[in-house]
Amino acid sequence: MTELYKKKGICIWCSRSSNETSFLTKPHTIPKKLNAHKIGFDICDQCNKYFGSDNNEEKIKYSIDKITKEIFNVHRFLLSNEKDSNSWKKFKSQFFNYYHSKNALKIKIDYRKNIGFEEAFTKKFKRGIYNIFLQEYHRNTENGLDAQFDEIRNFVRYNIGDLPLYYLKNRTGIRLTEDLDMPMEFSFNQHVQSIIDRYGFYHMTLKGLNFFIAVNQKAFENIDNYLIPECKYLMGSGFVFNKLIEIKKISQIDFTIQDWS
Ligand SMILES: [Zn+2]
Repeated sequence: MTELYKKKGICIWCSRSSNETSFLTKPHTIPKKLNAHKIGFDICDQCNKYFGSDNNEEKIKYSIDKITKEIFNVHRFLLSNEKDSNSWKKFKSQFFNYYHSKNALKIKIDYRKNIGFEEAFTKKFKRGIYNIFLQEYHRNTENGLDAQFDEIRNFVRYNIGDLPLYYLKNRTGIRLTEDLDMPMEFSFNQHVQSIIDRYGFYHMTLKGLNFFIAVNQKAFENIDNYLIPECKYLMGSGFVFNKLIEIKKISQIDFTIQDWS
């Protein structure tokens, strides 16, 4: 069988080559349920399967793809304007319930009772964001095997270590106008590449949510001289964005106007 989905011939996640693994399955760089149809390469069948399959041996058994998709599903629901007391009937989420009378989303009771669930869930979501980054970066630049991304590989593929996810909060009540049905597009132009090289950060806009991720070690030296000034600049008068936070719990992403702890 021809191995269609390889260019460098080494998996960007596990670093194995065709001698040790295979590249036969179509790898979506962004979970396809997010209306993304980008097909990557150099993502081996085993790694591809790992990101898309539940695993009963992990604290959160749900796959990275499923959790990422779910958060954006919730985000879309909260942004829709037609919510009423019947909305919850249409709202299907594995992890959340919607209470119209309280105007709130809550993590389902079974999960709330589970100590450490939210932290572990949040960590998997962070891994999902970094997963999209490296796969899209490699699809665009073919440079995802670079050693500067080893921390990302360990974190996303093997759950080793922890990487920060920064989030630029929207001001309460601000509705995003971005079309949620538009396919996701990321830019890795020269300017973006020079920010990565100099400061180690990547600004990722996903369905109107603004994240900053630490893509290499330089990021940790550049919080004060890149991340904070850049976010201050984006905040401007504070009309759209008003705060930069590091996500520790998924409920910190207010998405819109809800308090859904
Ligand atoms: Zn692999």
